[in-house]
Amino acid sequence: MVVEQVIEKVIARDPDQKEFHQAVREVLESIEPVLQKHPEYLKANILERIVEPERQIIFRVPWTDDNGNIHVNRGFRVEFNSAIGPYKGGLRLHPSVYMGIIKFLGFEQIFKNSLTGLPMGGGKGGSDFDPKGKSDAEVMRFCQSFMSELYRHIGPNTDVPAGDIGVGGREIGYMYGQYKKITNRFESILTGKGLNWGGSLARSEATGYGATYFAEEMMKVRGESFQDKIVAISGSGNVAQYATQKVNQLGGKVVTLSDSAGSIYDPAGIVGEKWDFVMDLKNNRRGRIKEYADKFGVQYYEGKRPWTIVDGAIHVAMPCATQNELNLAEAQHLVNNGCIAVSEGANMPTEMDATDYFIENKVSFGPGKAANAGGVATSGIEMMQNHIGTSWTFEKVDEQLHQIMINIHKNSAAAAEKFGSPGNYVVGANIAGFMKVADSMIDQGHW
Ligand code: NDP
Repeated sequence: MVVEQVIEKVIARDPDQKEFHQAVREVLESIEPVLQKHPEYLKANILERIVEPERQIIFRVPWTDDNGNIHVNRGFRVEFNSAIGPYKGGLRLHPSVYMGIIKFLGFEQIFKNSLTGLPMGGGKGGSDFDPKGKSDAEVMRFCQSFMSELYRHIGPNTDVPAGDIGVGGREIGYMYGQYKKITNRFESILTGKGLNWGGSLARSEATGYGATYFAEEMMKVRGESFQDKIVAISGSGNVAQYATQKVNQLGGKVVTLSDSAGSIYDPAGIVGEKWDFVMDLKNNRRGRIKEYADKFGVQYYEGKRPWTIVDGAIHVAMPCATQNELNLAEAQHLVNNGCIAVSEGANMPTEMDATDYFIENKVSFGPGKAANAGGVATSGIEMMQNHIGTSWTFEKVDEQLHQIMINIHKNSAAAAEKFGSPGNYVVGANIAGFMKVADSMIDQGHW
């Protein structure tokens, strides 16, 4: 009842922000059992407070292309919730970005960061700038202009952004350089930095590895492992690349990758020099995944997503591209073809009815806010190294990441069990993430 009223208010206040409505509905509906047991949350009006960002910043980002033409994009930073730590969350550069996307991502980030066990609040930002087809110099001028406004809102103890779609090492570098030029301070205001200037080993790998570790934990509960499993992965960016590598290391076979133009299907597995090719294609040459099909003589499916192109069984699905990229019909196809686990590398990639279908059909379903939390957890580990002025080995960081993913799995499973939905990681992750933030908000009074 209260939940429905809050959702209605959210929709009435910002009717066009449909991705944000979806994220709010998914969280609030699943924490209803907690509200029944904990009337103090309703008394403190936590629901209405938690769905309203503490601060929303929108700004103009003018930049000049290589021909001297001036363009204007819109920049965003939503500082959503600082109850348990400084705002933390990525920056997304994609033409689809608007306030509804940034708010959905920022809202998810609150609970994800809480689940990691590290002191990080929730935030998110970005711009509707499209890096595709832009020269390095154009991307640099855009990033400098973006940071020329963002710098005044962030700080090592205030707000520490990171990468997301369209923001990798190159963009973080250009933004960091501009921050330093303006402020004359070398400090930990971004994560995903280069290894020579404060970055952490294993940060690039963290989200993809973490989503794979989470899937491994879910499979262990079923008495299964990745050994000899056929795995469909979508996307071919940072998360997809390292999920592929980790699945290969654990004995599985990744047979699909995609980008926004289409998907490839390689029944022999994307491994060895084929994986190296994807890394060079996407991170250096910035080309399209179709070139993989041309190079290795496998099938390319223009405009299709990976979920229905595989011939035969798919045991594990890992959506690692973007929001709402796996629908109910595709979920039905996956279940009919032997899918036992879904681990979301991306944020909210599975539509709500498809998620329900997986859960009803006993597929182990790892929601993004739990399964892809390894990225931000390792950003937290990068911040720790910056604070004490050291850098840890790859093995040490990877070990911490692995342990955090095991803990998130354990805590989500325990919360689901405690509140009457055993095996439901969606409910478990939302409840475990929510309670810590809600309790902290109560401790800190009404503001
Ligand atoms: P990248 O920019 O490195 O890669 C994104 C990939 O997804 C590309 O293959 C891209 O294809 C594809 N993609 C993007 N938008 C669309 C779309 N609208 N339709 C189809 N395909 C699309 O981003 P990341 O790998 O970093 O991020 C992927 C997902 O993981 C996002 O949901 C992000 O929020 C989430 N995530 C990322 C974290 C990180 O540490 N990087 C942490 C936690 C979550 P194309 O090149 O054609 O656009």
